[in-house]
Amino acid sequence: MKDPKTLRDAIVYFSNADSCLEYMAAHRWPGGVVCPTCGRADVTFLKTQRKWQCKSAHAKRQFTAKVGTVFEDSPLGLEKWLAAVWMVANCKNGISSYELHRALGVTQKTAWFMLHRIREAMRNGSLLKMGGSQGGPVEVDETFVGGKTKNMHREKRLRMQTAMKQDQKTIVMGMLDRDTRQVRARVVPNVKRETLQRRILEEIEKGSTVYTDRYTAYDNLAAQEFIHDTVTHVDEYVRGQVHTQGIENFWSLLKRTLSGTYVAVEPFHLDRYVDEQVFRYNNRHTKDNPLNDADRFSAVLMQLSGKRLTYSELTGKNATTQA
Ligand SMILES: [Zn+2]
Repeated sequence: MKDPKTLRDAIVYFSNADSCLEYMAAHRWPGGVVCPTCGRADVTFLKTQRKWQCKSAHAKRQFTAKVGTVFEDSPLGLEKWLAAVWMVANCKNGISSYELHRALGVTQKTAWFMLHRIREAMRNGSLLKMGGSQGGPVEVDETFVGGKTKNMHREKRLRMQTAMKQDQKTIVMGMLDRDTRQVRARVVPNVKRETLQRRILEEIEKGSTVYTDRYTAYDNLAAQEFIHDTVTHVDEYVRGQVHTQGIENFWSLLKRTLSGTYVAVEPFHLDRYVDEQVFRYNNRHTKDNPLNDADRFSAVLMQLSGKRLTYSELTGKNATTQA
């Protein structure tokens, strides 16, 4: 059977357990199956059990394709997982646990847990910094999400800092590399100088050009060895190359998803929704990088291993019904 290209293809294709396993193994181990415990490639496939067995005599020498991935310990079949990954990777505004529950015939609670595990797989763990010789100027900005006053403009930010104490808003800080067109974003505890500048040091190569607005927390970035230029939104929205419209475009996509699909996102979980949106943004179709649905799906599968998320980590409770 040919590799799936559309959601309909994917559902047909992944209804076959052997196709699922083959597809998953090919993406997880592009260089051939290796033992997740010892890394040895000398393994035997046990066809009837759909498992592999490592030749070395260590504990856990038999393993499935799910071991060491976000699917580990899940009683759900790969056909449900892969169909779910396809949907999350490709629905522009995300997919709710209710939609997934109806599409897959699992409970809504199971669907909710599946979505969080898939978001974990989507999380970018790149150790490379942005900007530098490989990238371009980096736009840096932050935004407020949730709370009673939705999508308030940043000019009111200082006032908001005080108001936030009563109004549970969550702050997301984001960066966009102009050349690679890649975004990174995550929840930050506050908009203090040390918080924002520490994130910049962690994520951006020194010597890079950084564009921000004139928020005082970004002052003296130059002292940290960045080339810093600022834009004031009120009187000069765009001054040549100096703008933050790229990252602001990302904020509007994020907010559309959050207010449309995910009605109530607890601040505790917001980072995972941000990861999901970042993934779709960084893997979107562009003229230079014409990715399609199947490419986005493959990209998630290639990021599956080395990550786990248990029910208790997610909820702080012990699992009674695990996905
Ligand atoms: Zn082994």
